[in-house]
Amino acid sequence: MQLIKTKAIVIHSLPYGESDLIVTFFSPASGIIKGMARGARKSRKRFQGSLEPFATVMLGAAVKESGALARVDTADLVNARLGIRSDLKKYGAGSVILELVSIFEVSGASDEVFRLTETVLDLLERSSASLSLLAAFFPRYLRLSGFAIPLSSCGRCGADLGLTGAMYAGGFSIYCTRCSPPAEASIGRGTVAFLRRAEIVGEEAIGRLKLGSRDEKDALDFLGRFASAAAGKRLKTLDIAGEF
Ligand SMILES: [Zn+2]
Repeated sequence: MQLIKTKAIVIHSLPYGESDLIVTFFSPASGIIKGMARGARKSRKRFQGSLEPFATVMLGAAVKESGALARVDTADLVNARLGIRSDLKKYGAGSVILELVSIFEVSGASDEVFRLTETVLDLLERSSASLSLLAAFFPRYLRLSGFAIPLSSCGRCGADLGLTGAMYAGGFSIYCTRCSPPAEASIGRGTVAFLRRAEIVGEEAIGRLKLGSRDEKDALDFLGRFASAAAGKRLKTLDIAGEF
């Protein structure tokens, strides 16, 4: 058993028994930590509402041998991000971000991934374009987790997808309009340019990238399919985000 003290983002919180919570955290050094917070639902004083999704906390926990739940001792609130929880649209977009973080656990590059996730959640709290922000998060996060979206050139003829637009027919290849097999999803040239920029601009600048609402929908349909292929299962939260 090892005692740790680390900054962490609350990903998920699940009631257990009458008074406990099973909480999933994401931390820079240890990645995903799943722990049991005893008495968290009975005593409000002990955790002060800090075990809610989107919050950043200073976590004190006893981490056990692989596979076993950690023991959550303290979770002092650093940033509750109530602005995400009180707005349905932001909540939907934020839920997709947290699901991506929990599915594509990145080992080794956790500091950068953690910083990116915090920055994007902070931007989301202030943003008026939450779906654009979510669309910009995808390519960047997927690249860090080893699933970069090949948006530079057609997977068959090598044409610049920025000039042709991109077609997606499943798997990990992206094609131009001429080479694509029957496609599941497609995005226009402007959206290709948007996603390429999102990968390379400074983190704070991600919040200034905007798509029209029609392009946001196309982008998220495409990104959701690509990420689901990479994950080997359909992302659960995408349907919620798409509602708004
Ligand atoms: Zn082609």
